[in-house]
Amino acid sequence: MSAMETHNDRVVIVGAGLAGFGVASGLRKLGHVGPITLLGEEAHAPYDRPPLSKQFQIDGDEAALRLSPEPLPEVQLLSGCPAVALDLEQRMVQLQDGRRLPWDRLVLATGTRPRMLPALATSPRVMSLRTLDDARALRQRLGAATRLLVVGGGPIGLELAAMAQQLGCHATVVEAGPRLMGRSAPALIAEHLLQHHRSQGVDIHLGRTVVSVEDNGLALLDDGKVLQADVVVVGIGVLANDGLAVAAGIDADDGIFVDGWCRTNVAGVFAVGDVTRQVHPLSGRLERMETWSNAQGQAAALAAALVEPATAKPYDETPWYWSDQGSLRLQCAGLTEGDTHALRGDPASGSFVLLQWKAGRLCGVSAINAARDFNLLRRLLAAGSTLTPEVLAAPDANLKQLVQQAQSA
Ligand code: FAD
Ligand code: NAD
Repeated sequence: MSAMETHNDRVVIVGAGLAGFGVASGLRKLGHVGPITLLGEEAHAPYDRPPLSKQFQIDGDEAALRLSPEPLPEVQLLSGCPAVALDLEQRMVQLQDGRRLPWDRLVLATGTRPRMLPALATSPRVMSLRTLDDARALRQRLGAATRLLVVGGGPIGLELAAMAQQLGCHATVVEAGPRLMGRSAPALIAEHLLQHHRSQGVDIHLGRTVVSVEDNGLALLDDGKVLQADVVVVGIGVLANDGLAVAAGIDADDGIFVDGWCRTNVAGVFAVGDVTRQVHPLSGRLERMETWSNAQGQAAALAAALVEPATAKPYDETPWYWSDQGSLRLQCAGLTEGDTHALRGDPASGSFVLLQWKAGRLCGVSAINAARDFNLLRRLLAAGSTLTPEVLAAPDANLKQLVQQAQSA
């Protein structure tokens, strides 16, 4: 199909988070002229989630969260308007309010939702954190709290623990795994985080979970220990909001399967962001990336592919994310495990990078408070660098020059 033909398509985007918003704004910027409808279940204009576990808990600044200060030009935004079914034959989206929207191109950008522990779900002290409404409620509760308990030692748990300590609220983290950040960071980095958070006064229990929370705030751990908490946040990972896709027969398994062009197995139906499962460029496995950069990058790539299908390039950015945990900025790219590793900088100094290799190729870069080195090394990683540990860990290595050489090779 030529670009001129697709420019007039009616595009309906389900999900008005970072990915859905990114597709809508990208289409408009790149000259798509057909109607664009952006459907959001939440009753808010599109906003950014990362500050919800960080700065927003401190300053409550909602204006700072907005993805765009002004409404997107000529994009019909329907907030508080969940889609409830997809009719692939008629090419219609069914809305909860009874309306049916026709589409030529359908984009699913429905994100994820937090997992909850069924035994804790009904306790009035227990909550999760995903949405602006959750973040408002948490902020209000923390204002009157002195003890926060987080279940899960992933980014949600650790960012909240660090933020609570900053607010003068004592934090305890209960993590079921043998170490922190098991899904998303290397073991050596997790150990550094453990020491850091403990040194800041956070209590951390590894290899444990919470089995019950009484209405009075008594929380029972699975080893019989009892903790007192004013607020309990469960941050034990997420599930893909792929129910609409599954019900319509689109291939999914806790995530909608997409290729590099964000195509599902159904012609004309695309998916972007946290809800997708795609081939990880380094592991080769089908994975959900669950990162801000992936949602933004896939959205930009899809917008370009819809406007100029003939020249579209597949999205294949090396996955990366950041996590601000109090005074620590963690940044990770690529894989969390390799067969060889080296350190650039000294962990004792509080600023260092862990580099990992697999079969002689750089496969992972994780940095603590070393943003400049991380950004350069991430580019070497993306370029498939085979530079050795001796070269990259050398204190006098000129990383900028090495990046230039790798990119011009
Ligand atoms: P989402 O942001 O989940 O948006 C999906 C939207 O679709 C939601 O608004 C949902 O209500 C809507 N929706 C779902 N179903 C329907 C339906 N049927 N009809 C209409 N609308 C629907 N990543 C980082 O890399 N670094 C960070 O520091 C970081 N911090 C984070 C902090 C928090 C508290 C959270 C929750 C996430 C954080 N992330 C971070 C992850 C990052 O925010 C996500 O990767 C990103 O938001 C994914 O965007 P998305 O648009 O795919 O999904
Ligand atoms: P996660 O999957 O990264 O971490 C969950 C942690 O909970 C894991 O360490 C896991 O071992 C632990 N866990 C699982 N079951 C448990 C149980 N029963 N008891 C105790 N611990 C248990 O997920 P998250 O930290 O909840 O984050 C949720 C989502 O938000 C993810 O998509 C994440 O990427 C995103 N997020 C990202 C950032 C960031 O990148 N900076 C920050 C916040 C949130």
